[in-house]
Amino acid sequence: MTSRPATTNVSFSVPPPDASDRYVPILSPQPGIPSRFLILGHAVLGCLVHWVSDERMKGGGRTVPHTTPDDTCPVCVSRNQKPRWHGYLACWWEHSSRYVLADLTVHAVQTCPSLVPASGLDLRGMSLLLRRIGKSRNSPVSAELVQAKRDEKTLAADFDVSAALMRLWGETSARNWRIDDLEGRE
Ligand SMILES: [Zn+2]
Repeated sequence: MTSRPATTNVSFSVPPPDASDRYVPILSPQPGIPSRFLILGHAVLGCLVHWVSDERMKGGGRTVPHTTPDDTCPVCVSRNQKPRWHGYLACWWEHSSRYVLADLTVHAVQTCPSLVPASGLDLRGMSLLLRRIGKSRNSPVSAELVQAKRDEKTLAADFDVSAALMRLWGETSARNWRIDDLEGRE
């Protein structure tokens, strides 16, 4: 016989989990398939990163953070690779109903200067369309903003992009990113 739960021990008033506690993937568009995102963040967060090829991953690689001072960054040192700028934007991907970080390259931001953090434009509630030009998965991405804003009441909460990135990169380091792995590749 199953005993009834004691009603005195029910947890009420539990706040919903914070979006930044979840796994939020970085997303960039595939060739031929434009990706449309609903922007939750207010501005793009720029960061210096490295691209590391990894045949265990479907896309062929991933980004890892560049760390300072430059002469101690493990990727700079082991691969003699210059860091590059990427911008990340907190978004909701309606296609699969999930939080994502839209991945913006220098080229993408150049095609849509309103995305440059210094533009001062509040992006929240606008839509972002990313399109990969050409057929290769490495070909450049263009960006377009649909400036008509969604009603604030229909928007999910913004989340902390740097915390989401740190969690991704922290997990990557712990699970499969070691300096030994990087050496002798590519
Ligand atoms: Zn570096």
